Amino acid sequence: MEIKPKMNLNAETEQNWEPFIGLQIRISLATRTKLFCTCENRSGMLANSLICPHCLGVPATAPKVNREALAKALKLGLALNCKTNKTVVFDRKYTSMEASPKGYQITQLNYPLCYDGYLNLQLNGGLTRISIKTIHLEEDVAELKELPGESFIDFNRSGAPVVVISTRNKISSADAAYLFLNRLMQWVTYLKIANLQDVSRPVRCRATVCLGDTGNDRYIGGKEFPEMVSFHALRRALKAEIQRQRHNITGKIRTLYGDEVPVSAGNETDPANSSQRNATRAETSIAPILISEAFLDKLRSEIPELPEDKEIRLVYRYGINRTQADMISADPLIADYFENLVTYVTPLAAVKWLLGAVFHVMSEQQISISEFPISSRRLGELINHLEQNSITVEAARAVFQQMLEDPRSSTEIIVDKMLYIREDYDKLFAVPQRRYSQNADSDQQGDADEIQSLYLGQVWDLPKKKSDIKSLKALNPKIVKK
Ligand SMILES: [Zn+2]
Repeated sequence: MEIKPKMNLNAETEQNWEPFIGLQIRISLATRTKLFCTCENRSGMLANSLICPHCLGVPATAPKVNREALAKALKLGLALNCKTNKTVVFDRKYTSMEASPKGYQITQLNYPLCYDGYLNLQLNGGLTRISIKTIHLEEDVAELKELPGESFIDFNRSGAPVVVISTRNKISSADAAYLFLNRLMQWVTYLKIANLQDVSRPVRCRATVCLGDTGNDRYIGGKEFPEMVSFHALRRALKAEIQRQRHNITGKIRTLYGDEVPVSAGNETDPANSSQRNATRAETSIAPILISEAFLDKLRSEIPELPEDKEIRLVYRYGINRTQADMISADPLIADYFENLVTYVTPLAAVKWLLGAVFHVMSEQQISISEFPISSRRLGELINHLEQNSITVEAARAVFQQMLEDPRSSTEIIVDKMLYIREDYDKLFAVPQRRYSQNADSDQQGDADEIQSLYLGQVWDLPKKKSDIKSLKALNPKIVKK
């Protein structure tokens, strides 16, 4: 339907209106047991094989908070510079979701575990800070499954711990939102709090976007997207929606879509979460838990070097550039691989091979660094052969390709395939050899012997340096002349 705009949008220009994006990300925590019971927290198991009365929602079952989940969610909060509520309490969020037959979900909407944090991003050459509003814990719902001829509810996932990260809706572009999501996943990977490879429990993200004219404190739009799994798709959807809302402003007509939500003030609205408008009440069956400063200190001490710090250290320690350091520190295992590789070769060579050949294979075969078949030690040995000019660049590439399938060391493959540059030396030997045989019957026999021994001596005394081949080529005509 078409409505008349509430405010006078005549003569509006797009420049007055900036996007305000809010995100809410749900990540399943990797814990041994579920959030409130001792059922195993695993995926890929036989349907309804990991259940107990609590996960099934049987009344009067006493939930007990999983300390491991609590610690992992807190660790994320601390790493994202959040403040922490020292008393942990839970709420019941009433829901009519089919996947939650008990009619409610235990969550922390009123007293989130952590709040007021941030994550810095490098965007368009500058630093952008994304404000984290809250981080809270909640139990996952069950899963609706369809098989030929039947549909049923699988409760294996019901009650599994989920950490929910909500940003303030002040993210200013679809690209910043996309970058933040990817950066957040790096933090999660470094902290080892979730199993991001688990396809059955993907990371899910909701987003809202509205346009705001902060100068005049006006906000319009307020589109809420359904939960999405693909960050690429979310970025595309946000860009399209921002464009649509801008067009509506400049077109002086605003079309209100059925799923638009009212936005009162861009800096104060909650990030996308229609469920937050559901009724809640305190979960009285769970006793409040007090978090001690000592427990927080212990968690702080367990936080590893995070991507931001690692990136800076790699730049200063190895003299690589910021973009290279960013790519290497994106995954702690890639960073480990790099730092192992530089114990064998120069940082320059390590970066070149890792970001070139190794990344190419990883992307082509869709594998992670832990599945990459050549260890840093084996690759280091190969690079050393090349750096010392024992083999040509072409030979190194060929050996690298073979090493992907062949568990032997690069030295063994090089010897086996006779790839040493020594062959080039032999080609050069061929010249005096030929002269020698041509002159075999002449009086110059003595001279030829002398030339050859001189040549041999000079060749073998040459140190193995880059200049080897050049030196030989320069040396050769002289000797032949003589
Ligand atoms: Zn259970």
